[in-house]
Amino acid sequence: MVYRIAVFEGDGIGPEIMAPTLEVLDTVLAKLGRDLLDYTMLPAGAAHYKNTGEALPTASIEAARASDAILLSAMGLPDIRKPDGTEITPQIELRFALNLYAGVRPIRVFPGQSIPLSDPRARDMDFVLVRESTEGLFAHMNEGVIHGQEAATETLRITRATSEKLFDFSFRLAERRAKAKGRRGRVTCVDKANVFRAFWFFRSIFEERARAFPELVTDTAYVDAMAMWMVQRPWEFDVMVTENMFGDILSDLAAGLVGSLGLAPSADIGDDAAVFQPCHGSAPDIAGHGVANPLAMILSAAMMLDWLGAEQQDDALIQGGAMIEDAVSVVLSDATHLTGDLGGQATTGDCAGAVIAALKSA
Ligand code: NAD
Repeated sequence: MVYRIAVFEGDGIGPEIMAPTLEVLDTVLAKLGRDLLDYTMLPAGAAHYKNTGEALPTASIEAARASDAILLSAMGLPDIRKPDGTEITPQIELRFALNLYAGVRPIRVFPGQSIPLSDPRARDMDFVLVRESTEGLFAHMNEGVIHGQEAATETLRITRATSEKLFDFSFRLAERRAKAKGRRGRVTCVDKANVFRAFWFFRSIFEERARAFPELVTDTAYVDAMAMWMVQRPWEFDVMVTENMFGDILSDLAAGLVGSLGLAPSADIGDDAAVFQPCHGSAPDIAGHGVANPLAMILSAAMMLDWLGAEQQDDALIQGGAMIEDAVSVVLSDATHLTGDLGGQATTGDCAGAVIAALKSA
């Protein structure tokens, strides 16, 4: 069986981390004796917008929709802007077009990996942030109003339909994690229900849906307190579910806990499609130097194999995802092949090459 993968190479460091990631995928599938994936490169992004006036062509959306899974690096460049001053954001538009409501952002410490927190309990950190990815403060992006020189307004939207799906997804994820780890699962709703009615509505739906999952511990937290607890005791959390903008901010905080955005993978999952991409952006400050950390992109590809394997009931793909994670773990366990963001001196190619070598020798 040949799976069709839509690939958005993106901008900045995007193509630099995508090329070795496809090599990693080819290596693991060859090792498993399986057909390689069938990649289709699709145009979109800031450079494409500059050349054509279009950031995300309809044909790219439709080709992505028709594929079995979608890999995306990062899009956008700060100096390429629309007439209203904002950047193009095709990665967000794709989430809207394909209704990818659950942004899954796992954070964990690999054996041997060094991390910024000195408390030994931080090594047990292993949580998933689920960021709602189609509404919240992003629901009306591009529609904000600037009233003369005096004021500006944006609108936040929470719907029952999306919230129910988001919470059920998070509870099922916690169930799966609890089963795999042999302990009780926990889901924490992160909101601002003390101040905003929309978040009280969000929290009420969370509490309603939680009644169907009595085997899980469910609780709630205000986002400001959660920002502090994630730094002070991140090892206590399991699954956290939150609104789009809060999730956008907390996921970068979470990446900082493991040392770099270059180690934070993600998946944007809907009922019929999924996009796999690192949490980071196009890092224009280091683009073109061959020093970007490819591991978040590679770990996102591992998440893709795991998701595709479950969707297609193809256990070999799930095994392939685990093999990539093991190979990344080997690379993180000594400094030789680490890139500059993790304190090393390796190039993107050295680091990805070490993952490939670890896969081949496993
Ligand atoms: P960024 O994530 O690109 O970079 C933040 C910092 O992290 C920079 O210092 C960068 O060098 C570093 N960094 C990021 N990824 C790295 C990697 N793989 N290896 C080593 N270091 C890495 O965020 P930014 O600078 O705020 O945004 C840059 C551009 O990316 C902007 O145009 C922004 O709109 C866009 N962006 C896109 C996405 C996406 O496509 N999902 C997400 C965030 C930002």
